[in-house]
Amino acid sequence: MGIFSFNGNKIITTSGGGMLVTDDEALATQARYLATQARDPAPHYQHSQVGYNYRLSNILAGLGRGQLQVLAERVAARRQNFAHYHQALSDLPGISFMPEASFGQATRWLSCITVDPKDSGLNREVLRLALAERHIESRPVWKPLHLQPVFQGVETIGGRVAEELFANGLCLPSGSSLSDRDRDRVISAIKGQFKFASVE
Ligand SMILES: *Cc1c(COP(=O)(O)O)cnc(C)c1O
Repeated sequence: MGIFSFNGNKIITTSGGGMLVTDDEALATQARYLATQARDPAPHYQHSQVGYNYRLSNILAGLGRGQLQVLAERVAARRQNFAHYHQALSDLPGISFMPEASFGQATRWLSCITVDPKDSGLNREVLRLALAERHIESRPVWKPLHLQPVFQGVETIGGRVAEELFANGLCLPSGSSLSDRDRDRVISAIKGQFKFASVE
């Protein structure tokens, strides 16, 4: 199975909800059953299993089909954001971008960088605040679930990759409608911090 989110912040959206895809007819039937309140075939409302009211309405599905027509150009715009940032910032010491896997093409939904404090002489938060001062929103990469207060004390497995990404990662403005001028403002704000660091 595969899952797609059509949440409002995605490249294409139905304002909310998502989609499950599978080539397994039995799984699709079971998913439809659970997503539509798990009703037994009876004239009254009867449930032998707990279900959910998770259907995407046909109105929203129609919206999604309309959005599909602009998907390719939206992805191209997102990839353009990445290319622009990468070209301007990847030579700065300690700044890294996510490489593209050989087996596919990234949508570059978000253009994110990591900031190595040792190599750069500054850190993620310095850059985030410098951008905020210019009224440019950027955000840390997602806080891992095992660091969320709600899961405090829960057993965890694995390494520290997600923790390091959270500590050093920054999501840059990545909307499909950014102009060259918008991106250049982001770039000059970041470059300005590096000049400052090397003067000190
Ligand atoms: C959007 C997104 C989610 C959350 O999906 P929702 O439909 O908003 O619940 C989770 N993971 C990734 C990588 C996403 O992009």
